[in-house]
Amino acid sequence: MKKGRLIVLSGPSGVGKGTVVKALMERNPKVRVSVSATTRQMRPNEVSGIHYDFLSHEEFERRIAENQFLEYAEYVGNYYGTPEEPVNRMLEEGLDVILEIEVQGGLQVMQRRSDAISIFIAAPSFEVLAGRLRGRGDTDEDKIQKRLQTARREYLVAPQYRYVVVNDRLENAVDDVQAILRAEALQTEHQLELLKEAE
Ligand code: 5GP
Repeated sequence: MKKGRLIVLSGPSGVGKGTVVKALMERNPKVRVSVSATTRQMRPNEVSGIHYDFLSHEEFERRIAENQFLEYAEYVGNYYGTPEEPVNRMLEEGLDVILEIEVQGGLQVMQRRSDAISIFIAAPSFEVLAGRLRGRGDTDEDKIQKRLQTARREYLVAPQYRYVVVNDRLENAVDDVQAILRAEALQTEHQLELLKEAE
């Protein structure tokens, strides 16, 4: 069976990564999202094992020591990491696996898996990003400024991603990601079986 593809999707807080991922899964039955582990507090709307595996600091560090993570990073005072085994299992089953992760982790995955398809989701502008963060209504101005600062640092890393998709309108952004996945599948190296027929 053909192995699935590993897709790294990063982008600043408020850019709509989660919505893009949800729309992609609705459109593609072969796409799955990896469930990360984190030490941050569970939010009221979240379910353990679905949104994240919520772990204690000690348990997370034990799993680091056991080499259980494909990547992990500290982000705003908490650990976040991708458990490697379930990702490998899904890839073996031919499923495409999306890692919705921040940029430090994104870089680790790109280094370890050169075949990973890396996509940075950007906002049309910083003004639009600030507007979206304010529109969420649940954060004060100080927090919004901090998130924008973090976003600026994330943009510095973005040139290392293979693709940049601007989330102006959700439908367009999802179309763009679909186009990337389609073009990647058409690369010659993935078509060699077909070309062998001439031998
Ligand atoms: P939040 O706390 O808002 O759910 O996520 C904060 C940031 O952590 C987001 O940018 C999210 O994409 C990122 N993140 C979620 N899971 C992982 C992970 O497994 N590894 C890394 N490196 N970042 C993650």
